[in-house]
Parts: sequence; structure tokens; C-alpha cells
Amino acid sequence: MTDTKPTRQINTPEAIQLRSGLDIPQLLLPDPARVFADRALRLRQQAAGHAMRDYLMLMAVVCEAQHQRLRHYPAVPLPTPAQIGTATAEGTPLLACEHWPRAPEWRTELRALLALVLDQLPADSPARAGVQGVAALPDEALEQQASRLLAGITLGLDLAAAPLIAAGLQLYFTHLVAATRAASGEVFTMAENATRCPCCASPATASITRLGGAQEGQRYLYCALCSSQWHMNRVQCTHCLATQGIHYQSLQPIDQDQPAATKPAVEAETCDACHHYLKVVHLESDVHGEPVADDLATVTLDLLVSDAGFERHGVNLLLLFGDADAALEAEAGAP
Ligand SMILES: [Zn+2]
Ligand SMILES: [Zn+2]
Repeated sequence: MTDTKPTRQINTPEAIQLRSGLDIPQLLLPDPARVFADRALRLRQQAAGHAMRDYLMLMAVVCEAQHQRLRHYPAVPLPTPAQIGTATAEGTPLLACEHWPRAPEWRTELRALLALVLDQLPADSPARAGVQGVAALPDEALEQQASRLLAGITLGLDLAAAPLIAAGLQLYFTHLVAATRAASGEVFTMAENATRCPCCASPATASITRLGGAQEGQRYLYCALCSSQWHMNRVQCTHCLATQGIHYQSLQPIDQDQPAATKPAVEAETCDACHHYLKVVHLESDVHGEPVADDLATVTLDLLVSDAGFERHGVNLLLLFGDADAALEAEAGAP
């Protein structure tokens, strides 16, 4: 055994590895007071001069409405002690979104959210018709679209309506996680499947390297639905968990000898084993980084990495990928 005191200031792989033996929180739950407000702020910041400006601004308005509604979310059924016991014993996500029986309030809250969005959109905004269209959808159609969204099924999914419906689902599940913790304490634990959210079983949008305290330099995956973050070692494929053949691409040339502070804020972590990739948002490079907003603002990086033969497995519910039409509509500012 050598004397191996961790050096807090230096984020070498060795130093990060050493700290991983320390008391690192494995799961960070969303802060309801900040999660959507921070995202809205970041979207507005990224929108300036951006090719997708109109779309990023529209999504900022959506996130501001999510923030407003989350503060006054109505009471909905929460997990029972029996459900909590089963999830803990089986190592499965407590609020597995595909199977969780959605309370009808999620639709009421979605329509209230859309009304707030309409209040903020100018009378001549081309996005208004799309928002009104979703608000007018019958309950049955909303439920059908929600089930497809949560199951990751794009067949039969209305891609223009999807981000707005997803906003209502994000709101509902973020409330569920926060309210469950408030009612039952620390009942969320790491799940068997490290590639899915331990709270709601959704895929991640991106991963994030964090700043401060025991989390310094640690990497977390960021849930696309409930915004929980769960720990995963750096330099590991977030899809097949391989630790070899992991490489990084960014929109600027990477010099591995550069100190961390000058590295690009967003990189794509690619895997030679399964040919998938997920973006990493480095808070040490940009302290205001926010995975959902930064993912949306770096679509160019997706084009670069997919041209190199890698498949995206991150999910951003505010813009569904794998469909060139959706990206084009986003560029045109349609919802
Ligand atoms: Zn989640
Ligand atoms: Zn892989």
C-alpha cells in the first residue's frame, strides 16, 4: 500500500479514482426550486445568436412554465410502503415511468402549463397553433402519446407535439420524485441497471461532470424525465458499460495535455465496442452548463459524431432525435 492522499485541486484520473472510494453521493435528486428555472435561464443564454434561436427561446418559455406549475402541483398518489419495499428488495426504479399508473392530474397540469406558454407567446408567433393543438387534444390521445413517449416508441408519435406533451410528463415525474422524498424520506436507491434512472427508469439525456465537495470531478448521468442524477465512473460507456475504446469528440480540437479548465464544455463520449455515444457536459469548463439545454444547443456535435458512425443513445424529450425532419422543424422554429 502506498500513501495515496487525494489532491482535491487536480482532476487527474488517478485523483478522481481515489475520491471514488470516498463518500460520494450516488444519487442526486432534482431540486424543485431550481431545476426548470436553471434550464430556462441556460436556454435563453444559449439562444443568443444561435441557428436554432427561435426553438431554444420557445423551450425556455416552456421551462419557465414548468417552473411555475411545479410550485403549485396538486396532490397525486405517491408510492405505497409496499411498492417502496418491492423496489428496494428487487433493485428496480420505484417510479418506473412506463408502468407507473399516471394520475389524471398530469393532463390538467399539462393544459395549465400550455396556457402559461400561450400567455407568453406573441400573438403572431408561429408556435401558437402547435401549443393550442396539444392543449385541445382529447384525454385518450394525450395518454396514447404519453405511453409511446415513455416507452421510447417513435412509431405513431406526433413528433411536433411530443416536446410539449413531454414537458407535462417531466413536470409530473419531477413532482413525484420530490413529493415521494418529502413524504417517505430517502427511499430512492441505485438500481441494478446502471444505464437507466434509478428513480424513474428513463434513459439519460447526457452526463455531467460536477464541481464542489465530494462530487468534484465526478461524473453523473442526467435523467431525461425527472432530472435525477446518478453516479457513473468517467471513461466508461454509458450504454454497454465498456471501459476500453472510449474516445471524445467535440466541436473544437481536443488537446489532452490542456488543463481541464480549457477543455470544451461539451464533448461526445464514443464507444468502440457498441458504437453509441452520449454527450458529457463539463461544469469545470462552464459552470452554467445544464445538460438538457446544452444538449439542445449542440445539435451540430450530433451531426459530426453520427457522420463518424456512432449512434446517439441520449434522449432529449424537448427535441426527439433520430428524425431529420424534427431537427429541420426545430431550425424553422416550429414546436
Ligand atoms: Zn428519472
Ligand atoms: Zn458501449
